[in-house]
Amino acid sequence: MKSSSNHSQQPVAASPSAIDVVVREVGLRDGLQLVPYTVSTEVKLAWLRAEAAAGVSHFEVSSFVSKRVMPQFADAEIVAAEAIKMPQLNAGALALNGRGAERAIEAGVHTLIYVISASQTHSGGNAGRDTDQALGEFRQIMARVRELPSNERPQVLAGVATAFGCTLEGRIEPTRVRELMSAMAEEGPDTMALADTVGYAHPSQVRQLCQQVMADIGSLPLGVHLHDTRGLGLANAYAALEAGVTAFDSALGGLGGCPFAPGASGNIATEDLVHMLEAEGLRTGVDLDRLLEVRRQLPEWLPDVELRGALALAGPPDWSPAQRPASA
Ligand code: ZN
Repeated sequence: MKSSSNHSQQPVAASPSAIDVVVREVGLRDGLQLVPYTVSTEVKLAWLRAEAAAGVSHFEVSSFVSKRVMPQFADAEIVAAEAIKMPQLNAGALALNGRGAERAIEAGVHTLIYVISASQTHSGGNAGRDTDQALGEFRQIMARVRELPSNERPQVLAGVATAFGCTLEGRIEPTRVRELMSAMAEEGPDTMALADTVGYAHPSQVRQLCQQVMADIGSLPLGVHLHDTRGLGLANAYAALEAGVTAFDSALGGLGGCPFAPGASGNIATEDLVHMLEAEGLRTGVDLDRLLEVRRQLPEWLPDVELRGALALAGPPDWSPAQRPASA
């Protein structure tokens, strides 16, 4: 595990080279999926700007999915257009198929995110096709991306969902996940991720699968997308960290869930994740106090939505200067 001794001098808007671990805010996509009303574009952009100002540099800003299926993301083009103008911000968006990928490319997102579900049942519900069809579609998307001129080519983040288990199918064979990740890696994405879509993962499982996949995909950076459905979110994040993972998805206020995975709930909370990483001496580029200020605005932006997270209730540890650990 990398560590740093001088991160107290860390500026808020850190350059990527000053960051040890990437925190990717997915609240505006994953977090809004289960919100029972359509959140206004103004609120989404206010949230995005405020959290970017706290030092978060990577966002999943929307989903290019059918507006009929998910009215929440009907403004994907507008949100993306504003996000890509924000300085030092990597704006990513999810695409579930070739049509969505085309819209994301057209919108000029920095990162195109495409995820295949290892569970056939979940894949059918979430994306309307089986896993092999989804892989075929990914190959077509990558062929399309490769033919773009370099200044129009988004980075591609390719991931496998339900990688650690599925509420519909139960156990997911790690060999199946590794096959899918390797098949996607062959197409040349820029980064990859393993997602515990429904919160079934436990730490030793996360550590082992991350290590195996990292050995399979070589130098491609690996991230994890973890849900805290069963209270193991941060423990799993720490296990991934020990395995060498350097990118973590999270949602402010622990928002999130998948509409096609019964019982799925909350991503790990961004504020709790940042606290853990910084306490461990890893630089995230995020100013925790400013992030908590943004967190305090969430109930105003998202009325009647249940928020989670420990740090928002308890606050960060209040070390006296003499007791402050070197890394805090
Ligand atoms: Zn998720």
